[in-house]
Amino acid sequence: MEAVNKKECPSCAMDIDVDSEVCPICSYEFSEPVNVTRWVAVGLLVVIVGYLILQWIG
Ligand SMILES: [Zn+2]
Repeated sequence: MEAVNKKECPSCAMDIDVDSEVCPICSYEFSEPVNVTRWVAVGLLVVIVGYLILQWIG
């Protein structure tokens, strides 16, 4: 048994490379939680900057 980094595809239950963003078996796309956090951060930044601009304009 090799100690390589594998993850199980939730769609076809096959062990694939942990770095794969798309399953090579069934083309299932993995959604990374990091990306969600990034988009939330970007959204918050846009809201804050927009609020500051509105305050700046008066
Ligand atoms: Zn799959």
